[in-house]
Amino acid sequence: MLELNGVSARYGSVPAIANVSIRIGAGEAVGLLGANGAGKSTTLRAISGLVGLSAGSISFDGIDVAALPPHRRPELGIAHVPEGRQVFPEMSVQENLEIGAYVPKAKAERARTMELVYEIFPRLAERRRQLAGTMSGGEQQMLAVGRGLMLKPRLLMLDEPSLGLAPVMTDVTFEKIGEIHRMGTAILLVEQNVSRALSLVSRAYVLESGNVIMHGSSAELAGNKQVQTAYLGI
Ligand code: ATP
Repeated sequence: MLELNGVSARYGSVPAIANVSIRIGAGEAVGLLGANGAGKSTTLRAISGLVGLSAGSISFDGIDVAALPPHRRPELGIAHVPEGRQVFPEMSVQENLEIGAYVPKAKAERARTMELVYEIFPRLAERRRQLAGTMSGGEQQMLAVGRGLMLKPRLLMLDEPSLGLAPVMTDVTFEKIGEIHRMGTAILLVEQNVSRALSLVSRAYVLESGNVIMHGSSAELAGNKQVQTAYLGI
């Protein structure tokens, strides 16, 4: 479904990722792992068009994604939930969700999708009139994911959804991501919590200094000495 071939991206003169090739099949859950600054967020930004490519290509169902401006990419079914729960703090939970359905196809089904989001996240339904900025960190993270789902995406890209959450909220967040995946949505998960990520995804890529240095099934990576020492604290 999604294919990155030899993708490189830079911020001004600073190279961030180089020659990254990854592939995600329909309905698959794939992880993108690596230390701080390895290029995980940049890879997601390259897919959603927030950073341009200096080399390589990206295709989604055979469509040349890189040729489309960023605002057209969600129409393909690609949703990006960036790091740091960027919800609109002065708007209610419901208004934040409504804004999520901004492409015509999703807009037409907005009410039905919102009911589904409320089913997955009952806490958001309880708080639908509350201002997003007054929600807890975990609730805002749920809202950010819920807003991504309002696009009815075929691929949901999540950037560090557990960042800054208490362990119990991390559990809930991962449980919900699993639920969304089982409903048929492909997931591209960026996570520093490598053991949690590997329990959710079936395959993962490991980035180091902007390069993919390893790729394998979750079981292979969890059993790999280098991964164990660098990321699993074993
Ligand atoms: P983290 O886990 O810390 O979020 P990451 O793996 O997501 O890290 P990126 O945010 O993709 O890493 O960063 C990759 C490289 O690009 C880093 O060297 C970083 O300093 C640099 N970089 C990221 N954003 C910018 C920016 N806006 N301007 C300049 N350099 C940037």
